[in-house]
Amino acid sequence: MKSLWKDSEANGKGLLELLVYRSRLIGSEPKLCVWGGGNTSSKTAETDHLGKSIRVLRIKGSGSDLKSCQPKDFSPLKLEEVLPSIQKSAMTDEAMVDYLGCCLVDPKAPRPSIEALLHAFLSYQAIDHTHADAILSLTNTSRPRQICEEVYGDELIFVPYVKPGFDLAKTLAAQALRHPDAKGAVLEKHGLITWGEDSKTSYSRTIEMVSRAERYIQKKAEKKKAFGGRKVELLSPRLREIFIERFMPEFRKVLSKNKPVILHFNDSATVLEFVSSKDVSVVSQQGPATPDHMLRTKRIPCVLEIQGDFLRTKPALPAGRQSFKRQLEAYALAHERYYQKFAKPGMFMLDPYPVVILIPGVGMVSSGKDLDSALVVAEVYEHSISVMRAASFVDRYVSLPPREAFEIEYWPLELYKLSLAPAEKELARKIAVVTGACGGIGQAVARRLAAAGAQVVVTDTNPAKVRLLESQINTEFKAKKALGIPMDVTREESVQLAFGQILRRLGGLDIVVSNAGVATVAAVEHLSLAEWEKNLAVNATGHFIVSREALRLMKNQGKGGNFIFMVTKNVLAPGAEFGAYSASKAACAQLARIVAIEGAPFGIRSNMINPDGVFKDSGLWAKIKKDRAKTFGISEAGLEEHYRKRNLLQVRVEPEDIAENVLFLASHRSSKTTGAILPVDGGLREAFPR
Ligand code: ZN
Repeated sequence: MKSLWKDSEANGKGLLELLVYRSRLIGSEPKLCVWGGGNTSSKTAETDHLGKSIRVLRIKGSGSDLKSCQPKDFSPLKLEEVLPSIQKSAMTDEAMVDYLGCCLVDPKAPRPSIEALLHAFLSYQAIDHTHADAILSLTNTSRPRQICEEVYGDELIFVPYVKPGFDLAKTLAAQALRHPDAKGAVLEKHGLITWGEDSKTSYSRTIEMVSRAERYIQKKAEKKKAFGGRKVELLSPRLREIFIERFMPEFRKVLSKNKPVILHFNDSATVLEFVSSKDVSVVSQQGPATPDHMLRTKRIPCVLEIQGDFLRTKPALPAGRQSFKRQLEAYALAHERYYQKFAKPGMFMLDPYPVVILIPGVGMVSSGKDLDSALVVAEVYEHSISVMRAASFVDRYVSLPPREAFEIEYWPLELYKLSLAPAEKELARKIAVVTGACGGIGQAVARRLAAAGAQVVVTDTNPAKVRLLESQINTEFKAKKALGIPMDVTREESVQLAFGQILRRLGGLDIVVSNAGVATVAAVEHLSLAEWEKNLAVNATGHFIVSREALRLMKNQGKGGNFIFMVTKNVLAPGAEFGAYSASKAACAQLARIVAIEGAPFGIRSNMINPDGVFKDSGLWAKIKKDRAKTFGISEAGLEEHYRKRNLLQVRVEPEDIAENVLFLASHRSSKTTGAILPVDGGLREAFPR
């Protein structure tokens, strides 16, 4: 591992700035810590509210990530007040949190890390604590002390496993006093601590110790087969995709029993080697590499057993679904038994279904409340695989016994954090696809659904525009809320490929906003066959192909569903020279009603929105504005005003108005409405639904 330290960047920085600098260096290396893991500190001299100079421990607060940390993320603790707690013989986690809360220089600062006492009780100026993969590969073995001594001699103190908290802090402090020359410590089945009298020393020691472990592992790995070699033949990339597309709806159905989840498929080389190996079903069931990983991935993954040939043959599909359902349910039952065995009064059982599913020959499926969470689970589990792999080279992989693992998984402090989480948004855990998403209405709908918490798939024909919209939405929401997939609704194959991607990358589908549309202005006698067919292809056939694929998926998924068709007031009140548009949209409206009828037994709703004259950012209007103005015998510039004045409320209809009504129809608030038309047109008497 390379040091990223640059004197030219570090020189001249104060103690707190240096702490931020080295924390970011550590955070930028995923082999040192992943997603909020690890913590760092410095002891500084600061001035309190009375103007008195005091010694302060600046320690990473909970809820921040090292790689993007800022000075404000480091909680300031009055050392003089923290240190006396070492005299106590015991301290519960809750008491420790309360105690530390009283020691904050700034009461508004974030809550200090659960490992704050560990940093406070050691006298060194700079301390870094990571859950480095390479270190875990030495400590998660059957003889961790001997291996660590072999690698580090007495440069690092070896601390047998103790749950993070007061006891661990006290144990380490006592050991550090006995070994004044040590450069840090290895915490069994937990991670690494290094220290020094300045930031550079502590950081350099982290890099040095991890590098030594990496070299040791590399030597041990020579000529050895990872995880005992391959047991299961890998499916080809396309067959892997087909497998996932066939079975993902079943996975989502089962895993969403308590709370709906978003699923993500991963078949990286690291994952494939592990899931297809001889040892996967034994090694993966040992337990987590470090407490930090387990809070993301659960104690163990579910390894699916694949029997029969339903991978390749369609008729065997139901048998495959049944078999996987049984296995996932068995996992949940086993978790329930594990919970019952160790639970204490006042606890509640977490969702018993797995968050990591390993599929031999195919890959891994991870789950979360949204795409970001599912991706974090996947990334953390890939690190767990790396640790297991390296530990197997060094010795054999060993983890925490179930009782210790339970103590972490059901840590009251973590449960408390969960109970404080803000209420989820209206469409949280839902997946929505919007067709024609790059137009004015499509964009507004995509943003509104994302703001309401949904994962939104934005589709349109132009790949560059789709990518741009995806990145704009994700930047606006500071999360992966949008997934851009180019799709042409008129082409069956394009729609099927897009739905395959949705299944692999998000796990399913709950809401379809069938919005893509075109229009032609021409009197029937002048309308070309080509224009007529183009209108039918997008405005009728396009909705059909999308609905058919979505209905199949939703039925397999067994969680109901929701269609919103973008129709037009012209279906009820057609206008001259708009024959191709009005007739094709009428077919769409009739399709929407049939979807309502056929979908109802499965909890699938279908409703329509009839907008009128929505001009903003409209690609459709850009093309027909001139001709439409001609139809009415007015100037192009006066067209928007013409549309405003012809409605009862005399209002201009904006894309955001349409989006708000789409949200209503997509939400539980309209749960007893199906087959309906909702006009969003400012009120047009001739277009009243009847
Ligand atoms: Zn830790």
